[in-house]
Amino acid sequence: MAEKGAHLTGTTCTKPSIFEIIAQESLAYTLEPAFKRILSFIISFNPERYGHLLEWSDEGYLIFNTFLQRHYLSKYSASFSETFYGLKRVALVNGKLDEQLSKKQKYLSLIFLVLIPYLREKLSKLSYRYKLQEIDGYISQSKWERLLRKCVIKGHVTYCTLYESITLCNYILYVSGKTMHATPLLRLLGTILTYSDTRTIVPITELLYKAKSNSFTINDGFDILQTTVARSLEIGAFFLQFLSWWNQENYFSDIMSLPAPPAPKVPESARRYKGLCPLCMKAPHIRTVLIVSGYVFCYQCILPVVRTKKCCPITNYPANEDDLIRLYISQE
Ligand SMILES: [Zn+2]
Repeated sequence: MAEKGAHLTGTTCTKPSIFEIIAQESLAYTLEPAFKRILSFIISFNPERYGHLLEWSDEGYLIFNTFLQRHYLSKYSASFSETFYGLKRVALVNGKLDEQLSKKQKYLSLIFLVLIPYLREKLSKLSYRYKLQEIDGYISQSKWERLLRKCVIKGHVTYCTLYESITLCNYILYVSGKTMHATPLLRLLGTILTYSDTRTIVPITELLYKAKSNSFTINDGFDILQTTVARSLEIGAFFLQFLSWWNQENYFSDIMSLPAPPAPKVPESARRYKGLCPLCMKAPHIRTVLIVSGYVFCYQCILPVVRTKKCCPITNYPANEDDLIRLYISQE
């Protein structure tokens, strides 16, 4: 404890260990999936009415995260996950430490904590969608769109590799004592992490005494509410850490299971019949898929063929009436 108490002395301060840095970062990464899991759980009570809100879950998290990080930055000079591990940010200006973060540093900290994860998630989703469409054989007619798709996919891979490599180099420098900044983003901000002082919590007996002597104010009520919300979030965060550790344990046992095979390539014949019924060569009416081959026909075209020939007319795979499934992808 004495070590934590004397964390700031002029130009030196106690550096948190690399394990604390990595643990708080992994907690920060768990927040978003947890928020989305809770949101989809709430929506599952009435999916018809609120299902469309799931499309906006990224933006919902952006708003939630902005409020959360803003509160912790202004109150504890640290992000939510840093506060959870008893850390705080202090400014390092020309080799000198300053307990107070400047307004600009707080503002930039908020942008880095909120906007960068949001943009990274969006880029990752877009890149994944473009990759899937590429596998599916989609080729854009516009030259600019093709270039944009290529840039998004390559840009995402380059960003991830570059960011991971810089972070790893930074960790090595941090451990070997060559730098005070735990992460590249903290270096950009000109801030470092150190242990925070013990937080002042109003004891419950004092609050009861206040209530008894009628000196209980709205501010005290607000304090209790704030502490309760913060504590529930922190307890939730602890369980999140536990669950992510638990999943990781299961992950290692899953390594022994076989990897998922790659998606089958689209054959040339399927490209020829794209958007058409292979039998009448028109847009399919009552879209029906023959599950043994994956081709989509009009119901009235395929039914007699399967009944008489007992196979798929394109691939000749054996089939019968039970292998026909109606698709509900469009209103017909
Ligand atoms: Zn047809």
